[in-house]
Amino acid sequence: MPLIISWLRRFQHRLSMLYLNENNVVALISHKSHHSILLVLFFAVIILPIMAFSAWSSGNIERCIILLAVFGICALVLIYEKQNKQIKHIKEILVITIFSLSVYLLVSGGLENTGALWCYPLSIVLFMFYGARTGLQLNLFIITLATIVFIFNPFDVLTATYSYAEKTRFLFSFFLLNLFTFIITFAEELLVKSLNKTREALQKANITDELTGLGNRKFIKEALQSIDRRYDSNNELVVVMMIDVDKFKEVNDTYGHHVGDLSLIHIGQNIKNKIRKTDLIARWGGEEFLVVLTNTERQKAIEIARIVCKHIENTPCIYNDIKIATTISIGLASFEGENKDIEQVIQHADANLYAAKEAGRNKVVY
Ligand code: GH3
Ligand code: MG
Ligand code: MG
Repeated sequence: MPLIISWLRRFQHRLSMLYLNENNVVALISHKSHHSILLVLFFAVIILPIMAFSAWSSGNIERCIILLAVFGICALVLIYEKQNKQIKHIKEILVITIFSLSVYLLVSGGLENTGALWCYPLSIVLFMFYGARTGLQLNLFIITLATIVFIFNPFDVLTATYSYAEKTRFLFSFFLLNLFTFIITFAEELLVKSLNKTREALQKANITDELTGLGNRKFIKEALQSIDRRYDSNNELVVVMMIDVDKFKEVNDTYGHHVGDLSLIHIGQNIKNKIRKTDLIARWGGEEFLVVLTNTERQKAIEIARIVCKHIENTPCIYNDIKIATTISIGLASFEGENKDIEQVIQHADANLYAAKEAGRNKVVY
């Protein structure tokens, strides 16, 4: 007994390690990955030899051979899958194999007329592989097929003798199983959809500045990590623009924090309007913005910075007919020569920003 319990524990551990854990449960129920295929194969290679052994012990060699053949197919597919070899139409191969086996067990009666019962796992497998809608359609096809075989027995395929009660109860219970599985699978699909939406929203919120809707510091740092910052012979330079609003404290002191907020949104949007679509912008913090100009060169970067500066000066934020005029100072630095380190370039841009402030504000310093 303790041996069986320990064996079951190991089995459960292996199952959860491989297939049923938090990391892949969404993939499993969203019918998108191979997890459901692996899960079915995992059980198939355990159950099929037991069934084959039972057929052999009851003296039915034909059924034993068929079960072993299906086991062989499943084992091969599982080995291939584990080696990450992509098998084309693997789902279809598997479904046709299990479907054929179920049909064989249904029409032959299997062990003591219990063959039809194997249609139940097939039904669940179809939902696992194809989702609620297609799963239901395929199962309704099976019900129709079974009904035709039971009533008309075309080509005398039905060799087992089922009683009227057995046939009708099988069809009704199979239908009910499908109905409930459809409802559960459909609900799961809705859940996965809403889960994915929430996850996307969270990911977006994680890199978005709440006030301005621009990227935040995390966003721009990650972007800087991922873009190619090398300076090459095509003058494709990456330039960082550190922007700070001049005397912004006065805006808050004069009009209040709320108007200060509106002004920040306005400034952020106006900076964005004057840079190119390929450039990146983020709110660095407080009343500071950071812009990354890609594929540019020195002179072009200075030109863009001056245009942005002028534009902010000429575009005051209007609130309740009051014009709130602001200017900005910009410090530029680029990834050139030895300047490869992100922190180093940002510090350099910051130093140039300080120089722009020292030079009287509303200025650009490279
Ligand atoms: P300087 O030209 O030297 O940059 O002057 P400044 O007044 O802009 O500089 P300082 O650093 O003294 O003040 C920055 C101000 O920005 C102070 C702070 O209240 C304001 N600020 C920072 N974040 C926000 C915000 O989210 N909303 C509002 N309304 N104000 C903010
Ligand atoms: Mg500041
Ligand atoms: Mg400031």
